[in-house]
Amino acid sequence: ESTKVAKADQGSFDINLIGAEMGKVVTRFPPEPSGYLHIGHAKAALLNKYFADQYKGRLIVRFDDTNPTKEKLEYEHSIKEDLLLIGIDSSVVSYTSDYFDQIYQYALQLIKDGNAYCDTTGQEQMRAERMDGIASQCRDLSIEENLRRFEEMKNATEFGQTCCLRAKISVDNLNKALRDPVIYRCNLIPHARTGDKWKMYPLYDLACPIVDALEGVTHALRTDEYHDRNPQYQWFLDNLGLRQVHIWEYSRLNFVYTLLSKRKLTWFVDQGRVSGWDDPRFPTIRGIHRRGLTMEALKTYILMQGASTNYITLEWDKLWAVNRKQIDPVAPRHTAIENLNKVKVTVSGTEPYALKEVPRHKKNESLGSKRTAYGPTIWMDQADCKELELNEEVTFMDWGNAFIRSIEKNAEGVVTAVNAELHLDGDFKKTKKKLTWLADGPELVKVDLMDYDYLITKKKVEEDDNLEDLLTPVTEFKTEAIADGNVAELNKDDIIQFERKGYYIVDAVATASSPARLILIPDGKVASMASK
Ligand code: ATP
Ligand code: MG
Ligand code: MG
Repeated sequence: ESTKVAKADQGSFDINLIGAEMGKVVTRFPPEPSGYLHIGHAKAALLNKYFADQYKGRLIVRFDDTNPTKEKLEYEHSIKEDLLLIGIDSSVVSYTSDYFDQIYQYALQLIKDGNAYCDTTGQEQMRAERMDGIASQCRDLSIEENLRRFEEMKNATEFGQTCCLRAKISVDNLNKALRDPVIYRCNLIPHARTGDKWKMYPLYDLACPIVDALEGVTHALRTDEYHDRNPQYQWFLDNLGLRQVHIWEYSRLNFVYTLLSKRKLTWFVDQGRVSGWDDPRFPTIRGIHRRGLTMEALKTYILMQGASTNYITLEWDKLWAVNRKQIDPVAPRHTAIENLNKVKVTVSGTEPYALKEVPRHKKNESLGSKRTAYGPTIWMDQADCKELELNEEVTFMDWGNAFIRSIEKNAEGVVTAVNAELHLDGDFKKTKKKLTWLADGPELVKVDLMDYDYLITKKKVEEDDNLEDLLTPVTEFKTEAIADGNVAELNKDDIIQFERKGYYIVDAVATASSPARLILIPDGKVASMASK
């Protein structure tokens, strides 16, 4: 039985967990250490934490390490770091493998009670039989024979390796998840923590209810993906005489143009289509963090979704809009001009090159001041210069008004030079164009501005889609630019705004041989991530 949430608003929602007692709620987040955490995992982890906190209870972080073929220590470390990033303490963790002995005893109990059998049916045939509701030829073996076979599985003898243990639940239940699921399988690959002690491992469907009950979990949050498997979970609790655990269902997080599956993300990493698990195009916690999403914004957004159980695929815009709201008041303002498209503007009526202190953010004095250079030669964007009209009055931002006195263009209509006459008495409220500019001089620094597109071209990927057919050909875009000198003093991960361009996060500071690299932070205003 599951309870649905009443309302979700602005980062807090009413929860009404069945059987929840203040101070006694125990939830758990059980990642499998088989990849890096993605935003879907963040939802699971944050919801579990939220519930534990609301009831002044406890959250268990448990590594669900039952499949040595997929799991690596590297992933365990990364998961701990990422949990820390989203504010979840993982200094104490548990492991499903801590319970292998007990799970084994429970499996023996199932066999002795006539509730499990060792099956030698091949995978293909077993799938077909389950589909058609046909009983396995091994279903009615004697308890003694099953115990003997299970011992062979435990020792991974040649015969044992041809077997798997199945729970004897139903042959033809309408809910196919109940058709004698496999619960133990042999695997000779050594386990990261138990080495070669075990040569067979319980599957999640068996291990999860047992360990939840043993660890005192009161409420197991499960995504709607598992809906059909909930009766099976209950069957194990009932047939093994385990403590009741309440299942609470919530909707799996999905985003447009996005793969949220460790297996598929691994493919991108292995193929070299991304630079790694922290690639800014990736929906991993690391990826979105690197792209400029603050962890506060992530939390706010996840709790805004709350526990809605709608099957929907979310747009990225809303998440980035939440982020924009949080970074806008604290992002210092800077200026950048595209290097290849810059136009030299000669300004008359000005003093020689000089530096002045101006606020980093007009509406937030606490951010301090920055240097702005003023001088008779400035750079402006081609896009702005193209729009200029002769003798029109414009405003140079943070400087004052000016009249455009001449505009030179080449044969293709590209502006090659502009002359402007400063008119500092002019009223900036009366001009239509507020233009960004940079004074030429020793202060200027080079920067690389990065932007990215979705990795795949399909909004909603289906299970049988072939990934290779969906790849966006070019997903990384670099624009060389010049920026004000203050940018040289920024640190990695600093978030700023380039006036009239957007918010950026410092991905790498400048070195002797390469300019600083900044990544455009989507702001939720354009539908596509890349504004190409
Ligand atoms: P993947 O398919 O990406 O490998 P998984 O479910 O196999 O995901 P686990 O490490 O087992 O990965 O997941 C840990 C927890 O996170 C589980 O409780 C799982 O239900 C939850 N979870 C995984 N993906 C999502 C998602 N997209 N939305 C919400 N919760 C998710
Ligand atoms: Mg899993
Ligand atoms: Mg999954």
